[in-house]
Parts: sequence; C-alpha cells; structure tokens
Amino acid sequence: MSDPYDSPMMRQYRELKARDPDALLLFRMGDFYEMFGDDAVEAAELLGLTLTSRDKNSDNPMPMAGFPHPALEQYLVKIISAGRRAAVCEQMEDPRTATGSVVKRDVVRVVSPGTLTEDSLLDPRTANHIAAVFEYRGKMGVAVAELSTGRFAITHLQKLELVEELARLAPSELIVCETQTENAWLKALRGQITVLVTPRPSWDFLPDRALKTLCDQFGTTTLAGFGVDDDAPEIPAAGALVAYLLDTQKAALRHIHQIRPYRIERILGIDPNTRRALELTRTIREGRREGSLLAVIDRTASPMGARMLSEWLAAPLVDKSEIVARHDAVEELFANNDIRSRFRRWIAEVADLERLSARVGTGRATPRDLLALGRTLLILPEIKTLLAKCGSELLKRLDAALELCPEIRAAILTAIADNPPANPRDGGVIREQYHPLLDELRDAARGGKNWIASYQADQIRTTGIPSLKVGFNKVFGYYVEVTNLHSSKVPAEYIRKQTVKNAERYITPELKEYEDKVLRAEERARELEIELFQALRDRVAAETPRLVQAGGVLAALDTLCALAELAVQQNYVRPEMVEEPVLEIRAGRHPVLDARLSRGEFVPNDTRLGPDGGLILVITGPNMAGKSTYIRQVALITILAQMGSFVPASDARIGLTDRVFARVGASDELSRGQSTFLVEMSEAANILHNATSRSLVILDEVGRGTSTFDGVSLAWAITEFLHDHVRCRALFATHYHELVDLEKSCPALRNANVAVDNQDGEIVFLHRIVEGGADQSHGIHVARLAGVPAPVLDRARQILDQLETQHAAMSQAAAATHEAVAPVSNAAMPKASAPKVRAKTARGLTASLFAALPDPLVVELQETDLAKLTPEEAIERIRRWKSIVS
Ligand code: ADP
Ligand code: MG
Repeated sequence: MSDPYDSPMMRQYRELKARDPDALLLFRMGDFYEMFGDDAVEAAELLGLTLTSRDKNSDNPMPMAGFPHPALEQYLVKIISAGRRAAVCEQMEDPRTATGSVVKRDVVRVVSPGTLTEDSLLDPRTANHIAAVFEYRGKMGVAVAELSTGRFAITHLQKLELVEELARLAPSELIVCETQTENAWLKALRGQITVLVTPRPSWDFLPDRALKTLCDQFGTTTLAGFGVDDDAPEIPAAGALVAYLLDTQKAALRHIHQIRPYRIERILGIDPNTRRALELTRTIREGRREGSLLAVIDRTASPMGARMLSEWLAAPLVDKSEIVARHDAVEELFANNDIRSRFRRWIAEVADLERLSARVGTGRATPRDLLALGRTLLILPEIKTLLAKCGSELLKRLDAALELCPEIRAAILTAIADNPPANPRDGGVIREQYHPLLDELRDAARGGKNWIASYQADQIRTTGIPSLKVGFNKVFGYYVEVTNLHSSKVPAEYIRKQTVKNAERYITPELKEYEDKVLRAEERARELEIELFQALRDRVAAETPRLVQAGGVLAALDTLCALAELAVQQNYVRPEMVEEPVLEIRAGRHPVLDARLSRGEFVPNDTRLGPDGGLILVITGPNMAGKSTYIRQVALITILAQMGSFVPASDARIGLTDRVFARVGASDELSRGQSTFLVEMSEAANILHNATSRSLVILDEVGRGTSTFDGVSLAWAITEFLHDHVRCRALFATHYHELVDLEKSCPALRNANVAVDNQDGEIVFLHRIVEGGADQSHGIHVARLAGVPAPVLDRARQILDQLETQHAAMSQAAAATHEAVAPVSNAAMPKASAPKVRAKTARGLTASLFAALPDPLVVELQETDLAKLTPEEAIERIRRWKSIVS
C-alpha cells in the first residue's frame, strides 16, 4: 500500500499548506475543493461536511472532507463568519494537457473576515474594516483599510486611547506583529468587539520596509504628498497592512491609491459604553440595527450612502466650519425638493460604484460588474448637471471631484454584451461587431453547427434510415447513431465507436473534419473573448482611482440627500452651532421614540444648559416618567448636529462639544458578566478622568447597582465633582430624591422633575420636564400599572406612610442632636465621600440617608444596657424618645 502522505500530490499539498498553516487550505481537485488532515476534521465540524479518509485501507488513513466547486462562496461565508481564514487553491493548468507528474496548483487568494470583496460575502450597508496596530516611536500607530472600497486611513494615538478608537472602527480583522500578540489592550478590545486577530511576521513592520511597501503601492518615493511624514509613527502598521492585503489577494490593489491621515481630536469622542448606551448603531437589548438611531435616520438610497451615513454617525465632527459646511449642504437639499428627489432617484439607480471599483482594482471584476459599471457611468452626467446647479460649498466640491470617465463608459458599453454571464469562460461576454475576428469565429462555429444539421438530413436521405441521428459526447465528439433495427443499412465508411442500448454509434471522416472546425472555432472564440475581456478589465483597472473617487462623491451626496430627506419627513430643524458651551433646545424630541410614535404623541421638551442657564440638570421623578428619554434625547441631538444633520426640535443652539459620555444605570442595561456596580463605577471613573469643560455628560440612575446608602453618596459626590472641577454640561436622571438638595450648595446646578397629573389618586405621566425637584414618589402607582395586586398595594401604602413619619421624625432628631448621628455612621457610610459634603448640606444629606437604615430609636434601644441604667435615667430616656416620635 502506498503511503497516502507521500504521493507527489500530497507533497504539493503539504508545501502549499506550510506557506500559511493557520488558514484552512481548500485544495482544488477536479470539480471539488478538498481538505485534508486537521483541516478536514475542523471543516467537517464547521461546515457540516462528511468526514472520509484518503487511502482508507492504509495503516494511517488521512482524514479528508470536501465540497463541489460551485458551492465555494456559500462555504466561504461559513468559514469567515466562524472567524477563520481560508486559502483557496486552484488547478493552474488543464489536467488533460498537464505534463508533470501532478497538475500545477497554487493558492490564488486567501479569504479572511477583513479581506472580502464579493458582494455575496459582505453586508452592502456596512463597512468592513481591517486594521493594523503597531507601537512605534512611543505612539500606537493605527492603519485602517476597507479592501472592498479602497479606503485607507492612518492615525497615531496614546495607548490609553487605542481601545476606544478601535472599538469605533470595529474592524473584523486586526493585524498585529507576531511579537505583540499578548497585550492588555488586545484583551480589553476583545471585550468590546468581535475581531479576528492575525499575527504577521515582524519584518513586515520594519519601518524602512514598511515605507517601501507604501511607496510602491502608491507609486511615489515619499509619502509627503499625502501629508504623511516618512517616519511617522503609523508607518509600520500601514506598511504591514498593505503587505498583508497584497499577500492575501495575490493581486494588485489599484483601488488603494491614497492614504488619509486623521486625528481623533477632530472627531467627537464617544467611548464604546456611550455608543452602546445611546444605541447609536445597535440596540442594547437585542443588539440589532432596527431600533437604533442609525436605522431611524437612514434615508439613503444606495449602499454607498448607507455606509457613509454610518461612518458619519460613528465619527461626528468637532470643527465648526466642517459641521456648518454639511449643514449648508443639507439645508440646500432640504429647501429644494425637486433637486433632492431627482438626486435620490438617480442615486437609487447606480450600482455600488465603490465596491465595483474595488473588484476592478483587484482584477476580480466579472463581465456583469463591468456592465454595471458602464451603466452607472451613464448616469453620472445627469448627477453632475444637477450638482452644477447647487450653490453650497460642499456640493460644489463634490461637483468638482466627480469625474465622468466617458472613455471608460464608452469602452465598456461598446464591448460588453447586454446580458453577459458572470464567468467570462461561459462565452457571450463580448458584443457582436466589436471585434472582426471574433465575429468570424462565431460565424464559423455557428456555420459548422448548421452544417451538422444538414449532414444529418443528408445521411438520412442517402442511407434510408429515418431514425438516424447526429449526437455529441465528450469522449469522442460528434457521432452518428443508428438503431439496431437498421444496422444492415449502415454504409461501409462508417467507423463503429460504441455500442449502446438498442443502437450503435459511428464516426465518419467528414463529420470529424467539421467537428474540428466547429470546436476549434468555438474554442478560439472563447479564448479571444477572454482575452478581449481581460484587456478591457485592465484598461478599466488603470482608471480605478477616478472610479473610487466618483464612488466617494456618490456616497457623500447620497448621505447629504438622506439627511435632508430625514429633516423633511421628520420635521427636523437646522441647529445653530456656537463655540460657547451651551445647549439651548426648544421643543426637542427623542429621534427614535419620536419616529416610533405617531405624530404628535411624543411630548417635546426644552433644554437650557450653559453658564447662565445652569450647567448641570438633576432630573428626579418616578419610574416611567420619561427621565431617561429626556436626557438621551439631549445627547442624541448633540451628536446628530455634529455629524451634520438637522435635529428633532423646533429650534436648537448647540455649543460645540468635544466628547459625549453616557452612563446608564444597572437596571437599564443587560448585565455583561461583571459586577454591575464595578462596571458602573469604572465607567464613572472614566468620565471623571476624561470629561472636559466642553464635554456633555449623561448620567442615568448612576449608583443604582449598590445599596441605597452607597448609591446616594457616590451619585452625590460624582455630581459635585462634575460641578466643581470639570464644569461641563451634564444631565443626571435619578430616582434618589436626596439629590435634590445638591442645588443648595451647587450654584450652577438646577433641579427638574417630570410633571405628573394626579387625577383622583390616578397618576398620569405627562412626560413634561418642569423646573424644581420632585417631591413625591409614585412608585406604588407604577406598581399598580404593572399589575401588582390591590392588597399588596394597600399594604405598601401603609408602610410608606409609616416610613415617611419616621423619616420626618429622624430629620428632626438629627437636627436636634448630633448624638443620634454617631451610632449609625457604620461601615456602609463611605468615609471618603462623607467629609467632602459641605457643612451646609451635610445634615440634610445624612438625615435623608437614614431612611434606608434601622430606626435610630431602635438602635439606641438595642444598645441600651439596662444593668447600667438608673430608673431616673430610664425615665429621662423614654421621655426624650417620646418627644422625638410625637
Ligand atoms: P424613566 O427613565 O423616567 O423611568 P423613560 O424615559 O424610560 O422613563 O420613559 C418611559 C416611557 O415613557 C418610554 O418608554 C416612553 O414610552 C414614554 N415616554 C418617555 N418620554 C416621553 C415623551 N417625551 N413623550 C411621550 N412618551 C414618552
Ligand atoms: Mg430611566
């Protein structure tokens, strides 16, 4: 028995496998892709394939699994979504004509989550990023690319900023140096996003080598033209990323034709928790796009626009002139219904020019891709004509950047047939009358077929066999078939080739001669078609940068039109952007809730924050009143404004914000495995460390994840710190009524509550924010709404009355005597925060904190040692107690 591991083919297999051991090697054998060894075992499990073995009878049979070649894409989807890479190995020559001991094979591409270009493997409305990170010159260099569109950007950061930025970019694959795979930041990142980490050899990250890779890619000798220093901290990461892409694609990447440096300081900072809490692109509960801000505002007409809208939402601006430029453009499109709807109609008809250009740039465009490209280029002049009519700066810039590429369009549309196949090998790609030789060959092939038809008629006549048929098979080509009934009439020159049921098959010299002509003509026509198609594809590929640029223009235009459309449909208004840290919103609405409710159902609310209006607003009130909704709407309006959108309000004046922080209390968020209180506090710490006076902070029920006592104290101290030290705009929703007292000591803090209407004991939430602290708890009412049985509610009301009486009594007691405070300052009282509370408010706070603790009377009673008490002392004590409670 031969050793299955040591045939020439297996040697070839092992050699290819060794080049990239981490990737599943899909080894083409005839009509199948096969996997062997460990790959086969893994693939059988992952892809649900049957595990067999090669050379079953040997001592060590090799595991093997495979699938038919047309199923490649569908299996690639599964491999990629499992976070794996696959190397696709093809036969590089026709096995029939191969001369070596084994058919030549090679890996034609490596497919991984970050290197997809096929529409079938990508979500059209979501960008698919691949990033690389490398620490160089004391900075974290970051490069991020989108292979499917050619975007390529770089930045450098402090290590502490890294995870937040990577979480924002949300790459599906991350390239790191093989020596830097064990990192605290990588671990932290994995807690935020799902990403395949691909280690690469350290020489790819050598600065000189990386710079050369980049210069070769862009055809330059320096990167200065892109505004990038040749020794910038991001060079190693960027070079290694390009090297990886070239390596996996085994093709030129002409669509990656420029590098764009950016600074995170020019982006509104939104950390991953805030992004999640505000449900910008996914909902908290189900993690879905529906119900997120993105889904609600998306009015784009093309996948290009959808991707750009989500990019804008992920990176709102901070520069006033850039924001205003977008607002100007949106306003122009908002005001001009006719132009906007015409733009939108044309954009809806164009193909995904960015992703098409990427396939052109990697040499992977199909005949259908080229046709779609040609047809899209046909629409560009219409769009450009409309753009020329626009006056705003940004739209004018788009007009200037939009190249029509008429020669490419003409070249494609004159060459490609109307309904080309996806695969150029199937023929019928090139139009008639495009190439004289092709027409001739096609005629010959067709003529040959006609000849065969007439040959059959001829033979029927001369032999007198009515059932005589000319057929074709792969083994010996054209033949004449005669049923056994007529075998006596077969002429002598027929050469018998095959016996089938009830018939014999023959060939004839004439038939063979024509067959040669037909087949050769067909074959040559096909080869010529492929040649012509490839030449055209190369020619178009040379123009990739212009096409990529046109794609970018369409994407931006679609996004601006979509924002204008949104503003019209949802009644948004243009916000005024100002430098002072103010937030003045009239009749603001929560964009998501407002869109979900029918018109007029959402209760709009005003907001006035700023040095005059009070920087911090504490909103107290019962559950379900609308506190969370209100504070979120303020954050969402700010984000919308800075991404360039109009906002859901009747009037808005937005002071430029550098960062938005949102912290949502434990009960409003699904637990993510960690102690919720720990999570809450680490997020609070993040806010206290990083917020500046230009930030906007949203705190929702912070402190809820712990005992009331701790919770109130921490919430109090955090708010005070924001007020005294950070001095930023902040909104704090809380059901801790104690915090109302903060107003007394914090001059820039205001109280607000949510108006409720008390109609005969029935409480109606008006969802209207009004000045002042809430005075009553309506929890019991909410319990009734939730269906808690009446006896329980009655009992709750009793207890509430009792507690309120005691609370009042204790406040008096505390005010009357400091002794009463002493016994209860137990371990639950955070020592650090207590002394910070100003003297003026200390009492009020401490008093209200008692509410959650054993009655001081009870404590004193427990601690009273009767043995040491004289009767007089006992009487005195009882008298004092009595005076407290009555
Ligand atoms: P809270 O945080 O005070 O418990 P929420 O903000 O979660 O209350 O709001 C509870 C519910 O009240 C929301 O789900 C929504 O249905 C409704 N609601 C809140 N604010 C408004 C509003 N301004 N207009 C209409 N309905 C609102
Ligand atoms: Mg709430």
